[in-house]
Amino acid sequence: MGEHHHHHHSHSTNKKVLFISFLIITGFMIVEAIGGVLTNSLALLSDAGHMLSDAVSLGIALMAIIFAQKVANASKTFGYKRIEILAATLNGLTLIVIALFIFYEAIGRFMNPPEVASTGMLIISSIGLAVNILVAWIMMRGADTKDNLNMRGAYLHVISDMIGSIGAIVAALLILFFDWGWADPLASVFVAALVLRSGYHLTKASLHILMEGTPQDVTVEEIIQTIEKYDEIKALHDLHIWTITSGLNALSCHVVVNDDLTIKESEQLLDKVEHDLLHQNIQHVTIQVETNTHQHERSVYCTAKQDISHQHHHHHHH
Ligand SMILES: [Zn+2]
Ligand SMILES: [Zn+2]
Ligand SMILES: [Zn+2]
Ligand SMILES: [Zn+2]
Repeated sequence: MGEHHHHHHSHSTNKKVLFISFLIITGFMIVEAIGGVLTNSLALLSDAGHMLSDAVSLGIALMAIIFAQKVANASKTFGYKRIEILAATLNGLTLIVIALFIFYEAIGRFMNPPEVASTGMLIISSIGLAVNILVAWIMMRGADTKDNLNMRGAYLHVISDMIGSIGAIVAALLILFFDWGWADPLASVFVAALVLRSGYHLTKASLHILMEGTPQDVTVEEIIQTIEKYDEIKALHDLHIWTITSGLNALSCHVVVNDDLTIKESEQLLDKVEHDLLHQNIQHVTIQVETNTHQHERSVYCTAKQDISHQHHHHHHH
């Protein structure tokens, strides 16, 4: 292993940060839900709904980290690493559903704004803002919010919650001073738009991974050049690059070499290729070495067909 292959951003830090955030958010979510009912504020209730989704997503993210540490076995040869991606997909879909629900609720309130206890609403939303700032600060300091999809999702939640609390504060002030009843549903629609946005992005990114799409941090053209730059490699075909989970990209391909290359020589070649690929964010490499006599289609991308009926016939002529 080379010198610069550090991959230490530890899961234990993420776990601790997630757990603390989970406790704070769940605690305040209960306060806000009760406050929303008592003050009759949709803005507070939608914020509480958002925080519920935060609490659930933080809980799922926590579970995902615990599951991802379970080792691979005969039944699941990748282990449980993909659970993290499944959890992220579920988080994203939950957010979309919550946003649509708030939109639906708000329509009725625009047409007929109910009486809202604006002082109580102001107090609770101010505490909410303080709680969200605290959690965002804890996450920004302690966790890997840039590369880890789940941590990023959880972090985005908290950030948009923060903006949602500001919206609720502004709405409470408008009702308090000007008696503008529509400010409450307007603030809740604003929160819902933020929820919808992060839900859409999270769902899209995780579905891309579930579709075995090319990782965002990998450029296929550069990968092909990296492999084909070695003189020993005459051709490259059946290339696959996909993400198993955040921070774990995999590649498989076939390379054609001269038939006089020894196994020892090809192993030295593979070591070099593997190392180059590690520098291009590919952590798991499988390369099949072939000579020209191996009859495969010459397409860079996959030409494998689904085996619907048993289509490849053995040519035994008896
Ligand atoms: Zn290196
Ligand atoms: Zn492996
Ligand atoms: Zn091949
Ligand atoms: Zn293939």
